[in-house]
Amino acid sequence: MSVPEIKIENVSMIYEASGENVTALQNINLEIQQGEFISLLGPSGCGKTTLLRVIGDLLQATSGQVSIGGKTPSQIRKEKRYGMVFQNPVLYDWRKIKDNVALPLEMMKVDKGERERRSQELLALVGLEEFQNCYPRELSGGMQQRVSIARALAADPEILLMDEPFSALDEFSREKMNEDILQIWSQTKKTVVFVTHSIPEAAFLSDRVCVLTPHPGKLADIIPVPFPRPRSRELRNKAEFFQLVSSIRNSFQEGLT
Ligand code: ADP
Ligand code: MG
Repeated sequence: MSVPEIKIENVSMIYEASGENVTALQNINLEIQQGEFISLLGPSGCGKTTLLRVIGDLLQATSGQVSIGGKTPSQIRKEKRYGMVFQNPVLYDWRKIKDNVALPLEMMKVDKGERERRSQELLALVGLEEFQNCYPRELSGGMQQRVSIARALAADPEILLMDEPFSALDEFSREKMNEDILQIWSQTKKTVVFVTHSIPEAAFLSDRVCVLTPHPGKLADIIPVPFPRPRSRELRNKAEFFQLVSSIRNSFQEGLT
């Protein structure tokens, strides 16, 4: 049974930059289901980050509203029900991996034993158990991003907001991370809002792909992804996959005309 969890109604965002108004989002309407993996896909500047930040209460929309199970984003943030992952891992250099992961728990005053237990469990989930005593600089970019995913999951949030988390990785690491994030998602059952500018990435990961077109940022189309789960790397070589990727690409062309 699908339950709408995030309701985005008529959201518009206008920035004022050096005296000029920039319409970053125009009348966005979208419902995201509980446990859904949804992508916000579009070229740079189409408002993906803006929309993600509005959902996550990091930014106030100019008009319209977002509600999450009937609550405001600000309530949800206070209740620590968002986990966020950004393009750059933003880890603390002087903290061991396990202590980076445990940081949100420390802030919530969870006791040390429980923090360690939870941090180990999360590092196992992202495949980094044996690196728990390393420092961030000792890990590759992909591994650091795994740490930030583990940290985002520390407080067991219901909603994971990810802003181009794999864009800085090479193609090989990125595809591996795509497979791994699906496994993590299937184990944790979070609602995921995933921002990307990669069509294959969105097609591989998502239940639905939201196509955003720029200037002003509009939701041009919502494309359901029919592939069964679990999805494995073989999917990328299938004709159906190529077909979906090209039909998503075409919907951009249509959205822009
Ligand atoms: P995306 O994440 O899709 O690249 P953004 O949401 O970052 O897009 O930006 C959407 C548009 O809003 C862009 O034209 C960008 O220049 C503009 N914008 C973003 N943040 C600000 C800001 N703080 N002030 C002014 N304009 C902004
Ligand atoms: Mg962005």
